[in-house]
Amino acid sequence: MNHDFAAALKTLVDTESPSADLPAVEECGDRLAELGERITGIAPERIPLPGGPSALRWRAGPADAPGRVLLLGHRDTVWPLGTALDRPFTVDNGRATGPGVFDMKAGLLVGLYALAGLDPHVPVTFLVTGDEEIGSGASWELIEEEARAAQAALVLEGAGDNGALKHARKGWSIYTLRFQGRSAHAGLEPHKGRNALVRMAGLVAESVRLNVPDRGVTVTPTLASAGQTVNTVPDRAELHLDVRAGTVTDQERVDDRIRDLAATEGGVDVVVEGGKNRPPMEKHSAAALLERVTEHAAELGQPPPESTAVGGISDANICAALGVPTLDGLGAVGGGPHAVHEWVDLPATQQRIPLVSALVTGLARRPLTRS
Ligand SMILES: [Zn+2]
Repeated sequence: MNHDFAAALKTLVDTESPSADLPAVEECGDRLAELGERITGIAPERIPLPGGPSALRWRAGPADAPGRVLLLGHRDTVWPLGTALDRPFTVDNGRATGPGVFDMKAGLLVGLYALAGLDPHVPVTFLVTGDEEIGSGASWELIEEEARAAQAALVLEGAGDNGALKHARKGWSIYTLRFQGRSAHAGLEPHKGRNALVRMAGLVAESVRLNVPDRGVTVTPTLASAGQTVNTVPDRAELHLDVRAGTVTDQERVDDRIRDLAATEGGVDVVVEGGKNRPPMEKHSAAALLERVTEHAAELGQPPPESTAVGGISDANICAALGVPTLDGLGAVGGGPHAVHEWVDLPATQQRIPLVSALVTGLARRPLTRS
């Protein structure tokens, strides 16, 4: 098993799949489909998605069975083609490294091996998308459809430190603010100008006052540009804001405030584009599943898994926003997502396989009661 897992992981890491490279993501889908069929005995459906890579879907159990469980993962990575030549897949002392190994190719194998270990009557769907790292635009509706049809969503992203499960993720909003003033010669008639840069600077200062560190609300101006020449009152400016919030209420409050700030002042108009991108995954979404996973870990003689709240987003946010009980971080144990030191602890990651199988089986036998 150990050897098979590592060999399959090498195949997936070697088939590089940067989100923006559709043919590469599809080829990785081909390899994953072959591996998955070999491991589970089930051929996946290949679901074409307009404007993005196809999704792969393994389905087991009777089609109309209630209490279906959704396993969710993605096969795209943030690493450009050729990274695997510079940093090839390597295993040293049970520690695997290589591009995308932790986020989240090892997690895909946890899903496949967990599926292989299940009674074939257990109703479970394993969905693998290919555009998570760029916002899940093409796969969003399909994820929602599968999540709505499930009693619970188990997301196989990499774990937090020490294998911690992820019970909450902040929501993410992104804004582009466009400022339109009036240009004028800065020496001859500056009074005739309406300075878009000055208006933007005022708004930058106002926006950072929306930060509430105790509540985990962050408003970060990230990109800005203004002006045409060194001696012209600038008529245009553009500002980007990144907002993270732990609750739907905070996310909406900040959204309202940003729109309030964008009033016309000093003759400069402000247009706000963008807004809420991913809703927060709040802790109550995961509570019942955390209890279950703790029970199953004890049955398997595994230490009780820790759990943590994180700032980053994943497709778990999409599922949780529908009110579907959702738990994330069930995939690889390791660390360094999106970092060159990304790594996976192979023995600890393989312990996730019986844990995920037990969790799914337990949910099939004793479905969650929704409060
Ligand atoms: Zn990921």
